[in-house]
Amino acid sequence: MILHCDLDSFFVSVERLEDPCLCGKPVAVGGSASGRGVIASGSYEARKLGIHSGMPTAKALSLCPDLILVKPVFGRYSEYSKRFFSILKDFTPDIQVVSIDEAYLDVSRVQLLWGDAHKIAVLIRERTQKELGIPVSIGIGSSRYIAKCGSKLAKPDGLYVVTKGSEEEFLRTLEVKNLNGVGPKMTAKLKKLGIYTVGQVMLYEKDFLEQIFGKAGLWLYSIAAGEYSDSISFIENPIPRSIGNSRTFIKDLPYELAVRELRTLATEVGRRARKKNLFGKTVTLKVRYSDFSTFTTAHTLNEYTNFTNTIHRAAIEIFGKYSDYLGKFRLLGITLSNIIEGSEGIQFDLWDHKEKEKLMKLYNAVDKLNEKYERNKVIF
Ligand SMILES: [Mg+2]
Repeated sequence: MILHCDLDSFFVSVERLEDPCLCGKPVAVGGSASGRGVIASGSYEARKLGIHSGMPTAKALSLCPDLILVKPVFGRYSEYSKRFFSILKDFTPDIQVVSIDEAYLDVSRVQLLWGDAHKIAVLIRERTQKELGIPVSIGIGSSRYIAKCGSKLAKPDGLYVVTKGSEEEFLRTLEVKNLNGVGPKMTAKLKKLGIYTVGQVMLYEKDFLEQIFGKAGLWLYSIAAGEYSDSISFIENPIPRSIGNSRTFIKDLPYELAVRELRTLATEVGRRARKKNLFGKTVTLKVRYSDFSTFTTAHTLNEYTNFTNTIHRAAIEIFGKYSDYLGKFRLLGITLSNIIEGSEGIQFDLWDHKEKEKLMKLYNAVDKLNEKYERNKVIF
């Protein structure tokens, strides 16, 4: 059995521990409205008023003028996150961390030790509340996917069990909007087709769903038909599939100024990759115009890298095709993907092996300096 453990409105919950006056009120953690920030996490009081993460702060404040906005302090959250995962690891080593505040636990191997999945979930909820002071919601199911749907239904501060054998019934009656992976847009489209529950998806042919929703349609059909499987081995600290950094500018920028921002973005992506000893082969540039139209272009390199300069060069090359664009840019983002861990898999050309080794040492020194002083103050 799988448990999906997800802390409730995590950032807000942490801020409430720091300042109990925030309890019971509509609170959101996010960037400032003037700086075009977005909401990172909203309290349930705020969510009831329509505020959700990812929403521009300015919009959130116009929806809810009484919203209390708190600036994020990320160091604080990672501290709580570590403590949360160490509680989870006390129960089983079969844990898969998926984000700063959520993880899957495969408890199949430890039931003799702790009791059944339900018992373990109760214990985890008790300990997290007692030691962290933050509510955690848990979904239990025979697959990761079912467990995740369960935790969504359990929120806030709850526990939801889908017993073995009842998955079909659970999914059949589940509202599509509660499916993990179905957003508000898809929910609205499905509604137009008269689909409210997952079971109703089966009223339509597979091909028809594919026509309307593309790959998502096939995926949805496979869930409704009970054909979807997401079995995956549980490994600690899975290698991330990508490392990305994007920035919405305070003011939209013309090409000549926007292109300069690529340096900072590449520096951050390179630093994060090096920190985890990860190397990537594909650099993707995301470009957003003032009118919000968004484009992404990927470029695959000849070799794996985590050098800021190489990432930067690739991004500049891609961005070059926008040099004739007369409008302004709202956002740029760089993502490194096609990731491998460790430098073993990397084939250095013989002639530039020494050169690369030197560069690697140099980057490590720069990273150390930046870690010691202010982030990315030393640019290389
Ligand atoms: Mg959460």
